[in-house]
Amino acid sequence: MDANVLHNITYGMYIVASFKDAAINAQIVNALIQVSSHPAKIAVSINKKNLTYEFITNSRYFTVSTLDEATPLNFIGKFGFKSGRAEDKLEGVEYKKLVSGCPVMLDNSICYFEARVLDEFDCGTHALFIGEETESEVIKVGRPMSYDYYHNVKRGTTPQSAPTFIKEEIPIEGNKNMQKYRCSVCNYIYDSAVGDPDNGVAPGISFEQLPDKWVCPVCGAEKKDFVVE
Ligand code: FE
Repeated sequence: MDANVLHNITYGMYIVASFKDAAINAQIVNALIQVSSHPAKIAVSINKKNLTYEFITNSRYFTVSTLDEATPLNFIGKFGFKSGRAEDKLEGVEYKKLVSGCPVMLDNSICYFEARVLDEFDCGTHALFIGEETESEVIKVGRPMSYDYYHNVKRGTTPQSAPTFIKEEIPIEGNKNMQKYRCSVCNYIYDSAVGDPDNGVAPGISFEQLPDKWVCPVCGAEKKDFVVE
C-alpha cells in the first residue's frame, strides 16, 4: 500500500454541525461529496466516537458550512482538535440556528446547507450519512478552502479521528538545522523558514525567538508542548 495514492484524493474543508435537544456541536469534515442533484443528496463521513455523530443519529439533521480559504488555522483547530464533550466549541463563534435547530457557522463560511438524514452506512470506525438538502444559502463571495490548500498553504494538520488520517504523513526530517518544532498535541510543525503568517510571525524567526505567549496556531498548545522535529 502506497499512502501517497490516498494523499492524491481531493477534498474540501467544511464544518458539519448538528444538535441534540438544546445542545449543539460542530466539527471539521473533509470527507464530503454531493451524490445526486435532483434532489440534491450529500454523503458525509463522521467518526462514530465524535459528539457530532451522536447528535446526527439523534436529530437526523446536519448542516455543512463551507470554509473560506482565508479561514485562520486557530478557527479550524477549534473545531478539528477539540471535543465538544470537553468544551463548548461554538463559544465566541458567530452562528445561527435554522428552523430544525441545527446551527450554521457565519464566521469564515462562504455558504451553508442543511440536510435531513435519509440513510446511514456503518463503515467501522466511521459512519457514512446520506442526507437530502433541505435549506441552503450563500453568505458571501469567497473561495472554498480545499484540503490541499489547508495542508500545503495553511500548513494545517489532520487529527487521528479523521477518515483521512495516515500515521506516516508526518515527515521525520531529523535535521535540527532546519529549526522545525512539532506540536505534541496536533502535530503542527513550526518551520522557521515559513514563520506563522496567521499570527504575524515572519519567515526567518526561529522557534526560540517566538514570544513566550505564542501558541500553536492550530490547537492553541503552548511553546512548552513543542518538541524538536
Ligand atoms: Fe497544536
